[in-house]
Amino acid sequence: MKSIAIVGAGISGCVVARKLAERGCRVTVFEANANPGGLAEDRKVEDAYIPLWGPHIFRTSNKQVYKFINRFCKLSATTHRVRIYVDGSYVVFPPDSIKKPATMSIDYYASLKDILIDIVGPQIYCKYYEEYTQKKLGVDASYLAPQIISLIPLFNHKGRYFSEIIEGIPEVGYVTLFQNMLDHKMISTVYNLFVAARELHSFDYIIWSGRIDEYFDYCFGELFFASVRHEISQNWTWPISEKEEAVINFPQTNVPYIRATNYQALNSVPYIGLEYPLEGNLCAYPILTSKAVIKRNKYIEKAESIKDKVSFIGRQGRFEYSSMDRCVLNALKLGISLKF
Ligand SMILES: Cc1cc2nc3c(=O)[nH]c(=O)nc-3n(C[C@H](O)[C@H](O)[C@H](O)COP(=O)(O)OP(=O)(O)OC[C@H]3O[C@@H](n4cnc5c(N)ncnc54)[C@H](O)[C@@H]3O)c2cc1C
Repeated sequence: MKSIAIVGAGISGCVVARKLAERGCRVTVFEANANPGGLAEDRKVEDAYIPLWGPHIFRTSNKQVYKFINRFCKLSATTHRVRIYVDGSYVVFPPDSIKKPATMSIDYYASLKDILIDIVGPQIYCKYYEEYTQKKLGVDASYLAPQIISLIPLFNHKGRYFSEIIEGIPEVGYVTLFQNMLDHKMISTVYNLFVAARELHSFDYIIWSGRIDEYFDYCFGELFFASVRHEISQNWTWPISEKEEAVINFPQTNVPYIRATNYQALNSVPYIGLEYPLEGNLCAYPILTSKAVIKRNKYIEKAESIKDKVSFIGRQGRFEYSSMDRCVLNALKLGISLKF
């Protein structure tokens, strides 16, 4: 029977742990925090679950992903709608006016800025995207790789922010959802322990959802993340009357926070969440500058050369800006494809 070490109990680590346990592997999950959750960690406030780092809406169009999540908890349906506050007005975001181009070759562009201007035009770029990118990541969009375009909300989907078929929030919260996944006789968990790769030599195989640069002792240099601090307040008055719009983006630098969330609309609790960009040490958003992508590719190539011993998954393990459903899909694929 193979013994597997999984580093990190975020959504990626928990999904692959469950998949391998169900295949009969003995799995030990190591997590630096006191419980599973990672970036999706939440905490019970009154009768609802409020995310520690900012609103987390699970969305997917993938049946396999939905079926897997649904085994461990129900999702309470929600429809995510967003406004953006610019020059004194709260307007629908993304704007209805932007239409999907028929074709688009990313190779043609040098930066995220170039491709954004081409799609949304210079005016909307300046108003909605330029300051927002600088504020959120601390980097000008002209330094960011054009590939990031696929991760940026550009088109309005009949009033909806997301295009996926299913949108919801776990009724029991994310921490309980992940605990349910880890609740299997073949899975042991070790919390409050930040492990180093060298401590795991007794295992037959390692799955690493921590930072890939850290695993390799930063041999190609450090990969940088932007952090965020999420503050919960009851003293902030929600400024718009539309009850369904749970989130307002604040791209301009004259406001210190970048996003406000009305948890009354999302979770039925009277709290407002304010996200302050670039505060703290959370590995929240990979800063995918064109230089960082080259560095990341070197790490991924090195990872490929040891894939008979270690696999790298998740936001930190692949240094990619992934949504939760993508993490689930990748973790399921890995759990199925590993040959033991
Ligand atoms: C503010 C914010 C809002 C978001 N909103 C959404 C949303 O609405 N919808 C959506 O789909 N996605 C959203 N995301 C993205 C989503 O949070 C991530 O895609 C997902 O949680 C990543 O999961 P992961 O398991 O790959 O990594 P993580 O969640 O980062 O988990 C990695 C875990 O590994 C642990 N770890 C790392 N190194 C070690 C070590 N050496 N030893 C022990 N433990 C270690 C960490 O403590 C952490 O718990 C959001 C992200 C942020 C920051």
